[in-house]
Amino acid sequence: MKIAFIGLGNMGGSMAQNLLKSGQTVFGYDLSEVALQHFSEAGGVVCASPQAAAKEADVVITMLPAAQHVREVYLGENGVLAVLKAGSLCIDSSTIDPQTIQQIAEIAKTKNIAVCDAPVSGGTLGAKDGTLTFMVGADDETFAATKPVLSLMGKNLVHCGAVGTGQVAKICNNLILGISMTAVAEGMALGVKLGIDPKALAGVINSSTGRCWSSEIYNPWPGICENAPASRGYSDGFASQLMLKDLGLAVDAAKHVDQSVVLGEKVQEMYQKQSVGDTARLDFSSIIQQYA
Ligand code: NAD
Repeated sequence: MKIAFIGLGNMGGSMAQNLLKSGQTVFGYDLSEVALQHFSEAGGVVCASPQAAAKEADVVITMLPAAQHVREVYLGENGVLAVLKAGSLCIDSSTIDPQTIQQIAEIAKTKNIAVCDAPVSGGTLGAKDGTLTFMVGADDETFAATKPVLSLMGKNLVHCGAVGTGQVAKICNNLILGISMTAVAEGMALGVKLGIDPKALAGVINSSTGRCWSSEIYNPWPGICENAPASRGYSDGFASQLMLKDLGLAVDAAKHVDQSVVLGEKVQEMYQKQSVGDTARLDFSSIIQQYA
């Protein structure tokens, strides 16, 4: 398989390395010299533009920060759709809005190129270990074609429905996560201020109806979960600014379909505050600092 990989950052860099480890030829492009150097050291073929990478490839994977970058890489001046062979497959794993990938897929269809969305969960650790979950939006035939590639970078491939539904699954999950983390932070902070020991409180919550991933695995109070970012100064986790981005995608998507997201909007405000200055890079569980 000849694969073009565009966007070799924290996630894409490790994902491309897993493709290289499994013996694939990977043509890579990124704006960052440092990212390209790591990719080259791992055995990747460095290319001078998205088009240079794509013209050699049967499959293109993109892992970019936001929708404007995805648009540019597929449709821009140096965009890959202009050079790809008919019958090629494009997989966008960035977290973006569902409409952008649907529009790109429509344009690609006129050239007989398949485009699907496959955003991920599992974070940088999952990217490194090759244990990501991919939420795939594609027709049945395209989903089947993604399996041999995505299984080299992930453990769990979920077919969510038509193009765009992978993004729908991703942003709805992260909407719930942002709200549930803030709810646990609020409850923990209140309990401690009212005089209960945080470990005792977490023990009760985790054997009661308040229990959730944010309370049990990733508790925002320091020292409750040994391996959670809260127990190492909120470093090396899922940055608050990335949570803010995902909440923004969910709130915007809700506006498109005239759906209210009362809690989502309130939590978005809190993450806007958290994403100013140094706290922007802290793990999203640092939202508990706003209750100090
Ligand atoms: P990152 O900023 O580390 O990497 C993005 C890379 O894209 C950078 O190296 C940047 O130079 C490159 N880039 C930007 N514009 C480009 C262009 N026009 N052409 C080529 N390269 C370009 O970000 P990341 O953490 O790897 O995240 C990538 C995507 O994955 C985002 O959409 C993010 O929301 C999503 N995501 C991240 C995580 C995480 O834990 N980091 C988890 C799940 C999903």
